[in-house]
Amino acid sequence: MNILDQIFEGGIVGCGGAGFPTHVKLNTQVEYFIVNAAECEPLLRTDRYTMKHRAHDIIDAVEAIGDQLMARKKVIALKGHYHDEIACLEAAISAKNSDVELFFLENFYPAGDEQIMVYEVTGRVIPPAGIPSAVNAVVSNVGTVAAIYDAMHGIPLTQKIITVTGEVNVPTIVSAPVGTPIQEVIDQGDPIPRRYTVILGGPLMGRRVGMDDISKEYVTKTSSGVIVLDEDSHLSGRRNTSIETMLRMAKSACIQCTFCTELCTRHMLGHPLMPHKIMRKLAYNSDVESILEDNDVKQALICSECGVCEEYACPMGLQPRRINKMLKTVYGQMKIRYQREERDEWVANEAREGRKVPSKRIAARMGVDQFYDYVINDCVEVEPREVCISTRMHIGAPAKPVVSVGDMVRKGTLIAAVGRDQMGANIHASIDGTVTYVDDSRIVIERN
Ligand code: SF4
Ligand code: SF4
Repeated sequence: MNILDQIFEGGIVGCGGAGFPTHVKLNTQVEYFIVNAAECEPLLRTDRYTMKHRAHDIIDAVEAIGDQLMARKKVIALKGHYHDEIACLEAAISAKNSDVELFFLENFYPAGDEQIMVYEVTGRVIPPAGIPSAVNAVVSNVGTVAAIYDAMHGIPLTQKIITVTGEVNVPTIVSAPVGTPIQEVIDQGDPIPRRYTVILGGPLMGRRVGMDDISKEYVTKTSSGVIVLDEDSHLSGRRNTSIETMLRMAKSACIQCTFCTELCTRHMLGHPLMPHKIMRKLAYNSDVESILEDNDVKQALICSECGVCEEYACPMGLQPRRINKMLKTVYGQMKIRYQREERDEWVANEAREGRKVPSKRIAARMGVDQFYDYVINDCVEVEPREVCISTRMHIGAPAKPVVSVGDMVRKGTLIAAVGRDQMGANIHASIDGTVTYVDDSRIVIERN
């Protein structure tokens, strides 16, 4: 079986993002294979834990993936201050006499953004709304690379490494089967507040979930972090602002200082996104529909939703990112896609180097810097009594269940499948047990 078949069989999807099926992404040839090991968001430690504990596996997998891609350069990009992780990777590279290179990034946010990482490593700007292959590169998260190593050895993706941090007594790494109730993951950290909110993912791009909704959340193939925050904290309150209030604030309080554009991470790459202009057009027009045809407003489609504009740049506490997100939803409903101006080459803004936002500074602005320097080395295993596994953990078609209620399954048994030619990913049982519920969207397994 070749490596793409092994990856397909193992149900591997991008662990650092939206769950793009990896066998599709790697079915190409490029000059650069870049491993994203920058742990983009402050507070998370998942990638660092993986690098420290699986350096040899990672180097083996990078070699194999590089061969598949016929890549001339295989680069692991990580932050220069990850001293322990660098030592582990360098030891593995040396032991294997490998030509995998390490690239050291400064500690800025969002260093792990795919487009920014490609620019840092190659000096090439991916065109707006483009993908890395446009500049002869493919990027995979280091967690995905570790999962590919497992798939190369017949082990499907069923277990996740997750950082639990924030207002907890025990910041920790949790190893949990896919489908584990998020509450059981949170409990490993021992939350301090009586009422709390969690951010699933990192503090900037993660999804806020209120305490009353946590019971509906389960570990997925893309889970990477859970941040516990007091229900009354600045960050959880800010994420709670309604769209109507946010729009009203945008209309009345934007002072057109342009800071959101000057620090916009896409604008700094030379892309034509200028959030202050979108805010201005909103202020001068009574309804959103009336500005949708405007070319400046359409640039919202290339917003990465990194959050620098609203969490760091804006002195008025406005939320250009949320406005862009709302506009993207409206454009999506109208089936309007981004039309790129054609150019031979895109060039980053000259001011970019001086406008990188230090990770700790943005964490401080968000009121989470007290968790920034946590040392998290220990890993606890969670063994849930029951798992609820979604069939939609990836981009593309949902996987179709291939088990029925009453079936006995072992960890690694295929429980939902997609066709080899389909955009999608197979799904496997994450514990030994009995299937107790099946529908198109989820499969529940109770531990024997
Ligand atoms: S979230 Fe803000 S800073 Fe980030 S790309 Fe979008 S507009 Fe630019
Ligand atoms: S930074 Fe804030 S106040 Fe300044 S232009 Fe942007 S949205 Fe308006």
